[in-house]
Amino acid sequence: MRLQFVGCGDALGSGGRYNTCFHVTGARVNFLIDCGASSLPALKRLAITRDDIDLILITHFHGDHFAGLPFLLLDAQFTRRARPLVIAGPEGIETRLAQLREALFENSSKTEQRFELRVVALKPGERRSFGAVDVTPFPVVHGESGGPFLAYRVEAEGRVIAYSADTEWTQTLIPLGREADLFIAEAYYYDKAVKNHLSLKTLEAHLAEIKPKRLVLTHLSDDMLGRLDTLGYTVASDGMVVEL
Ligand SMILES: [Zn+2]
Ligand SMILES: [Zn+2]
Repeated sequence: MRLQFVGCGDALGSGGRYNTCFHVTGARVNFLIDCGASSLPALKRLAITRDDIDLILITHFHGDHFAGLPFLLLDAQFTRRARPLVIAGPEGIETRLAQLREALFENSSKTEQRFELRVVALKPGERRSFGAVDVTPFPVVHGESGGPFLAYRVEAEGRVIAYSADTEWTQTLIPLGREADLFIAEAYYYDKAVKNHLSLKTLEAHLAEIKPKRLVLTHLSDDMLGRLDTLGYTVASDGMVVEL
C-alpha cells in the first residue's frame, strides 16, 4: 500500500501548498482522505486517475478539507465516470455537500449523476467497512464551525493509517494513532499554544504514549515552514509518497 500527499497545506495556502488531500492505493484499495478546495488540480498535476477512486473520507467541513468535492463531482460527470463512488464524513454531510455544490455550481446537486454516488454519515467510535477499507472515526476538537470534527484510523491490507485531521490536543489522539504504521499529524505551530490547532511541542509531549511506527507532520503554518531544516521530523510535501 502507498499513500501520496496530493496536498498537505492549510486553509491559507501557506508555502504555496495545496489544500489537504491524501491518496491511498493498494492491491484492493483506492481512496482519498479529505478533498480540499484545490484537490482537483492537485490530483491532475500528479496524473492520478480519479475514476479509480472508490471512497473519499472527509474529516470536517472546512473548505481546505471539503471544498474540492463539487469540482471532483463535476469532473466525474463530464468525464463520464461509471464506477460507483462513496463519500463518507461527519454527520450532516448529505446536507452540507448539497449546499456546497449548489453554492459553487447551481443545480449541480440536482443533476442526475451518470454514476452511483453514496454519501454516508459517520459517527465517532462507530467502525465502518467500505470494501477492504475499515474506518474508525475519533472525535477531535477544532472549534465551533465546520464540525462535527473527525480523525480517522484506517485499516487496510494489514496496515494502519491514522490521521489527526485539524485539532487541538485531545486524549482521543492517543488511541487514534497508537502504534499506527503511519500517523499523519497536524503540526500547525512549533510551540505556540492556540485553540483548535496542534503544535509540534504539544504533540511531541505525547509521542511516547502514541508510539506511531512512522510519523509525518502536515498542515504546517508559515511558522513551521520556516523551521523545516531544524525540525528533525518527516514533514509532508505535495506529491510525497509513503510506502507502507
Ligand atoms: Zn485545515
Ligand atoms: Zn479545519
